[in-house]
Amino acid sequence: MSAKSLTQEELLRYKQMLLFMRAKLRNEVIEMSGNALSRSRTESSGDLSSIPLHLADVGTDNYEQEFTLSLVQNSSGTLQEIDAALERINEGTYGQCENCECRIPKARLKAIPYTALCVNCAAEKEQEKRW
Ligand SMILES: [Zn+2]
Repeated sequence: MSAKSLTQEELLRYKQMLLFMRAKLRNEVIEMSGNALSRSRTESSGDLSSIPLHLADVGTDNYEQEFTLSLVQNSSGTLQEIDAALERINEGTYGQCENCECRIPKARLKAIPYTALCVNCAAEKEQEKRW
């Protein structure tokens, strides 16, 4: 039951989300280093409209902005995680917890499409590394 894989269509959608996030993230990173974060929103939305992403699935503008902000705070690490997630999609292991190999719930994938761990394992890891 819960071992059922994601459908091709779902995989494609997560892939689009990840590609979108990566593009967005790179954009923001470049703009930040250029110290021009504030003027970017309308300009970059022009560029991004060419990406065939179903934005309705990702959420509203507000959601997207919050999303972007939280991404920027941890951008280089997130970029790596997004790349790793895209690799997992190619390898067919996307949506599977890297630690316990359970299926990661779709709700979690929607919230954090690049996550490699289920909620339980992520919580465990957090505790382990307690800085
Ligand atoms: Zn797990």
